[in-house]
Amino acid sequence: MPTPDAFEMSTLNSSADRHGAQMRRHPAPFLHGPDHRRHRGIYRRAGQFPKPVFVLILAILGFVSAAGAQEQAQEHPLAITEIAAGVFVHFGAHELMTAGNEGAIANVGFVVGDAAAAVIDTGGSPREGRRLKAAIRSITSKPIRYVINTHAHPDHVFGNAAFEQDGTAQDSAIFLGHRNLPRALAQRGPFYVGAFRRTMDDVLDGIKLIAPQQLIAGEEKLDLGNRILTLRAWRTAHSDNDVTVFDETTHTLFAGDLVFLQHIPVVDGSLRGWLAALPELAAIPAQRVVPGHGSATPWPAALDDERRYLERLARDCRALIAAGAPLAQAARTAGLSEMSHWELFLEYNARNATAAFAELEWE
Ligand SMILES: [Zn+2]
Ligand SMILES: [Zn+2]
Repeated sequence: MPTPDAFEMSTLNSSADRHGAQMRRHPAPFLHGPDHRRHRGIYRRAGQFPKPVFVLILAILGFVSAAGAQEQAQEHPLAITEIAAGVFVHFGAHELMTAGNEGAIANVGFVVGDAAAAVIDTGGSPREGRRLKAAIRSITSKPIRYVINTHAHPDHVFGNAAFEQDGTAQDSAIFLGHRNLPRALAQRGPFYVGAFRRTMDDVLDGIKLIAPQQLIAGEEKLDLGNRILTLRAWRTAHSDNDVTVFDETTHTLFAGDLVFLQHIPVVDGSLRGWLAALPELAAIPAQRVVPGHGSATPWPAALDDERRYLERLARDCRALIAAGAPLAQAARTAGLSEMSHWELFLEYNARNATAAFAELEWE
């Protein structure tokens, strides 16, 4: 039986057949969950709100379920793996975000130095965030000084509320992200929250969209106490607000969704930008990567599958464009030869192909 999202996907495909032009103007604005078209009204209206109204919306959303914060007392810690000395990861399920998986579909992790810990992504729900925090507290009592969001997608930021200052100096974390992250959260955050509320219900109680206090434009170094993390902001690739985190001590790279393994890559920024970023990524002197989705893997071999998929998508779309094929045909056929290599292929490939076709059409 198809999942609700797989069903939505087939609806989207047939819709693309009939409304190719319209699809072209709206390539995949919504990721990791319910199809956006049912809620496009919300999306469009949100996009048109002036800034002060946005701030108000964010504030209201933040306090909708303040009561939810009360239930954090004792969460069951997330299962974590120490993949290198002082580097811990919870590996997300290769699924769409649901109440059942508590939104825990992305890899989230933390790094512990002599003086403090840093969190890299907070998960797909406040509950996952609280469980991540409980996992950190099972390892160390050092302050959680930094919370880094690799980008704006819900599976990476919906757990932020768990790490907001809770009145103790111990946990007054600074939130960091790409200089484009505040804009992305403002433009899409309220829509994401509204859409996932419908499917995840009280798992999202206490949700709060927290914009970074410290913005990354180029490179930034954080000192955790005899342990340096290098943060780097990227040009538009997976999204327009991707940040990577490199642990200089163990040469571990947290790549966010710039790297996918097993889980099909999701194109929400620029296919050409992403392909252009791959050699720069490969040049990072890492020994291993924690991808946004998939296993921790030796570097840079970890890029091979993703590169092959993205190149295939680009080649197929360019060939279709050269042949004068319509967008709907790209949605059906581009990248199809990659199907057996990826989980969630049917959930995302047609969207990727649609976005890629629209981007490459204007080369
Ligand atoms: Zn993700
Ligand atoms: Zn993402």
